[in-house]
Amino acid sequence: MSETNRNYVGGEWTEAGTGETFETVNPADPSETVAEYQQSDEEDAAEAVEAAAAAEDEWANTPAPQRGAILREAAGILADRKQELTEELTREEGKTHAEAGGEVQRTIDIFYYYAEKTRDLGGKVKSASAPQTNLYTVAEPVGVAGLITPWNYPIAIPAWKIAPALAAGNTLVHKPASIAAGPSVAIFEALDEAGLPDGVANLVTGPGSSVGDTISTHDEVDAVSFTGSGEVGQMVYDAATQAGKRAQTEMGGKNPTVVSSSADVEEAAEIVANGRFGVTGQACTACSRAIVHTDVYEEFVEAIVEEAESIEVGPGDEYDMGPQVSEDELEGTLEYIDVAEKEGARLVTGGDTLSGDRFGEGYFVEPTVFADVESDYRIAQEEVFGPVLAVIEVDDFEEGLEVANDVRYGLSASIVTDDHTEAERFVDEIEAGVAKVNAKTTGLELHVPFGGFKESSSETWREQGDAGLEFYTIDKTVYDN
Ligand code: NAP
Repeated sequence: MSETNRNYVGGEWTEAGTGETFETVNPADPSETVAEYQQSDEEDAAEAVEAAAAAEDEWANTPAPQRGAILREAAGILADRKQELTEELTREEGKTHAEAGGEVQRTIDIFYYYAEKTRDLGGKVKSASAPQTNLYTVAEPVGVAGLITPWNYPIAIPAWKIAPALAAGNTLVHKPASIAAGPSVAIFEALDEAGLPDGVANLVTGPGSSVGDTISTHDEVDAVSFTGSGEVGQMVYDAATQAGKRAQTEMGGKNPTVVSSSADVEEAAEIVANGRFGVTGQACTACSRAIVHTDVYEEFVEAIVEEAESIEVGPGDEYDMGPQVSEDELEGTLEYIDVAEKEGARLVTGGDTLSGDRFGEGYFVEPTVFADVESDYRIAQEEVFGPVLAVIEVDDFEEGLEVANDVRYGLSASIVTDDHTEAERFVDEIEAGVAKVNAKTTGLELHVPFGGFKESSSETWREQGDAGLEFYTIDKTVYDN
């Protein structure tokens, strides 16, 4: 991916009006430039929105299975490029090959899934009170969708917005995260090759503050779907809803795994380690708090240290855990490590950056575990987007549940237990959009709803599965007498 990537507007690969570009680098070796993208501005974004608006009627009136055929074709094209896309994702974002390959495969599956859904779109037939009246609903597309995505799943998250939006008959403008925009370009290449009509899907790269803001507020945009940080998400939500748009925001998490006195401690440590250190801790659903019953606390701390220390860190194409995505993200993690030490948490492993031949100038940090964390410490309350785990000791199940819920987020949560009653109570009482039993907090099935409680999401809408289509449709009720 050495050439300069272009925007995709009205079916053409275009340059930004600014004439400027920006670069991305390999987080495992920041001296390596990975790609160049258009540094677009408000005008470029507005042009893309207008192209989407112009294509709206034709696409909405295209029979849904024909729309599905294009999505299916795009899925096949992405599948043919899977190996290459996996390598590019690792180079630009830092995930290991296994993680990147899984993400690319998920993207392919999402396109196939929503391609199939187009055979099934429609409304409901209802019985009418008046004789000889057909009463039914039709699910119509909302119009133009504005899609803004983060860097941490730079191909799967764009896909889980783009595919349902197109399946439901919307046109769209997409702005990917600037740190890792390459995978979005690949999706648009696939859609172009698959024969998507001009203007139906448009891609504009550039800063969130200009391109993202225009997409969130432009008159011709009807629905805004955002995934990213809470701070930006709230701004986007306020701007979009004040401008009268339907808005969906998926944001951060402070996800707990509760470890019961009945848990198999080795299994619990493995579950927590996978949930925390997978994708270098940079998942919105990552487990950042292990809330452990006092009876198994010390044993758990020993086991999680062993897990953390067994992880081989290094460039993602060869090792178990890759770098953080950028210097800023690495700095953010180191700052939390510092804060946790000052607050009195006990550092039991990790805590430092990694240097030496294997690491070069890459943004590598050790898998880090703090024990004896109190629930009101910042490290137990704020999202730490890196491989740092807080272990909190609790006296009983009740306290574990209370601590688990004692945060402003509510995205994903899990419990490791052998006690079925505890598991049921956890599922009932946990304030999270995803509740898991004897499983890690990360990892999602694509055909069930995903979204959070509290400050993790705007709770009205969900993504993925059938729920993922609802955001992009509006019901019309027909009385045909
Ligand atoms: P971010 O900084 O909020 O950025 C997300 C997107 O918003 C990027 O495309 C960014 O563009 C854009 N943006 C920035 N300022 C904007 C503005 N004023 N108006 C409109 N758009 C703007 O988040 P991130 O660092 O990329 O991603 C990490 C965060 O995402 C974490 O908090 C994580 O928990 C969350 N996340 C949530 C989910 C979920 O489903 N709940 C999934 C994955 C990640 P630039 O890149 O150009 O700045």
